[in-house]
Amino acid sequence: MAIKITKKIKGYSVLKPEDKAREAAVTATPTPDVEIEPVSNIIHMHEQIERPEVLIGSTYKIKSPLVEHAMYVTLNDIVLNQGTAHELRRPFEVFINSKNMDHFQWIVALTRIMSAVFRKGGDVTFLVDEMKAVFDPRGGYFKAGGVYMPSIVAEIGSVVEEHLKMIGMIVDPGLSDAQKKLIADKRAAYDNQSKKKPNNQLTGDLGGAAADGALRTNEAATDAAEGASFPATASLCHKCNTKALVLMDGCQTCLNCGYSKCG
Ligand SMILES: [Zn+2]
Repeated sequence: MAIKITKKIKGYSVLKPEDKAREAAVTATPTPDVEIEPVSNIIHMHEQIERPEVLIGSTYKIKSPLVEHAMYVTLNDIVLNQGTAHELRRPFEVFINSKNMDHFQWIVALTRIMSAVFRKGGDVTFLVDEMKAVFDPRGGYFKAGGVYMPSIVAEIGSVVEEHLKMIGMIVDPGLSDAQKKLIADKRAAYDNQSKKKPNNQLTGDLGGAAADGALRTNEAATDAAEGASFPATASLCHKCNTKALVLMDGCQTCLNCGYSKCG
């Protein structure tokens, strides 16, 4: 069958075998009496979706000791099937901005490729894993709260992860209540254990040592007030990449994720 094209071609797409099969299936099925919204009407992310004039988004600030100026990561989302039961919020584009323009060409390349992957659709969460596995040869750094970042790229990856969790694309089951309680109990036991130590020293020493002991108690109090922070002596937990591993009853225990070397 020949079709004469009379208008200017604005765009085209190649008909795939599965499209033909779907079309055949749609024409073959008799229309059901009850009107159910066909699954084929649900729009998923694909390359041909045009960018709406307005997109909603979030901007995340990254401050790393590896670079002088902060970086601002903006992720814009598109809302598909708005107002229906199949409403989806999907990432559409990413921009990174900074006063520091040293690595600008790489940043532009990275964001353009990431945006292209977003617009391709499908499961784009692999980007997070790929980026989080990038290690800086100079060594990484610790963020506030003791979380280890192996590189700036990894931190951009964790920002994307945070965003995808927020829009419901990555589902994080989190810790169960039982696990949370276990960690809280361990934390309380550790705090009790470390509180006893300065007191013992205090009884044995005089003068300046007493003042020192009082200072230490104050420090312990501020530590407890912050809540989320972990003991200063904690080492890095390789399960959750957080400086929260402490020695308790001769066993390395993580006060963040509950990991224990002794099982
Ligand atoms: Zn951990």
